[in-house]
Amino acid sequence: MSRFRMYPSPAQQAALLELCRDARYLWNLALEQWAMWTRDKGATPGFAEQCRQLTEARAAFEWLRAGSQTVQQQALRDFDQAVKNFHAGTHRRPTWRKAGRHEGFRIDGSQAARVEKLSRKWARVLVPKVGWVRFRLSRAIPDAKSYRVTCDRMGRWYLAFAAIPEPIPAPGTGELVGVDRGVTVSAALSTGELLSCPGLSDREQARLKQLQRRLARCRRGSKRRGRVQVAIAKLYARAGDRRKDWVEKTSTDLARRFDVIRVEDLRVAPLTRRPKPKPDPERPGRYLPNRRRAKAGLNRGILANGWGLLVQRLEHKAPGRVEKVNPAYTSQTCSVCGHCAPGSRENQAVFWCVACGHRANADVNAAVNIAAGRAVSARRETPPRVSSKREPQLAASG
Ligand SMILES: [Zn+2]
Repeated sequence: MSRFRMYPSPAQQAALLELCRDARYLWNLALEQWAMWTRDKGATPGFAEQCRQLTEARAAFEWLRAGSQTVQQQALRDFDQAVKNFHAGTHRRPTWRKAGRHEGFRIDGSQAARVEKLSRKWARVLVPKVGWVRFRLSRAIPDAKSYRVTCDRMGRWYLAFAAIPEPIPAPGTGELVGVDRGVTVSAALSTGELLSCPGLSDREQARLKQLQRRLARCRRGSKRRGRVQVAIAKLYARAGDRRKDWVEKTSTDLARRFDVIRVEDLRVAPLTRRPKPKPDPERPGRYLPNRRRAKAGLNRGILANGWGLLVQRLEHKAPGRVEKVNPAYTSQTCSVCGHCAPGSRENQAVFWCVACGHRANADVNAAVNIAAGRAVSARRETPPRVSSKREPQLAASG
């Protein structure tokens, strides 16, 4: 994606929001259709059938016909892709699109090619039903077949072209690095470097908490509530901007410095899934604690660190040079002697080998194992109980 900041006029903003509303409406309609499926009903209508239904609906409803057909069709196509991603296991279940939170639509085909450069710093794009909208030329316009217009919660408009960036050439030194993605630090390299993704400062976090408390006291639909919501959105946007910036810089740096980058093949989706409710055997209808709150805290940490995004960007920037390694036992195996024992952890931060006495930062030790590709050791002992924090795959299967 290469993203540009867009500066629509107030009238254009209103028109863009209409398109966003159409896209959101169709997405939610498709989601409803999909979610209503039961075993005794036939197949859920696919993309082609939904497009046919859309044509019928456009003929019947004036307000739908007033919107852009491309925008409406692309919303259905996006949903189709989301369902495919869900079934492939790479993404979570598609969710409802909410006003003010998920504002955006996609344009593709010949309509996406209408982009003009105005000056050294400005260009404009012809958005159907809206007209020419100016955007800031912060980089070269890529050769892309589609673009997406989005509005974040702070009301900033963006234009993003779906283009995979030019791969960064390998340094050719034959050097290899292992990256362990931890919760305490964002990433540890086998070279011993510890990288942490910047989030909000302590002061900003305190402010966020204060605002959230204030929001809880606001009446729904009040003006004050709206103001507090915007202030909260600003803080979230700031954290998101910092995270994305860190991911871009880190992925570029790794792609430039190393020929091969090994990462743990950790599926973010299963790890961040909500824990199953545990029914109480003694009192039917009641539930035992399932540590959902604890897991929610961990999930926040994972998502805040932008794991998935980092690997995705690495794969874009260094295609064919990113290797995924099964991370089982990497946190318990000694990177010097290869002995694997769950007791080799002094605590979350320090690794201390029970066999040879090697002592290192736990995340760096894991990163060295990942670099060696020594994921599953042949000499491993059966671990009696594994921390669910470190070994999600094992916890899930065992
Ligand atoms: Zn050892």
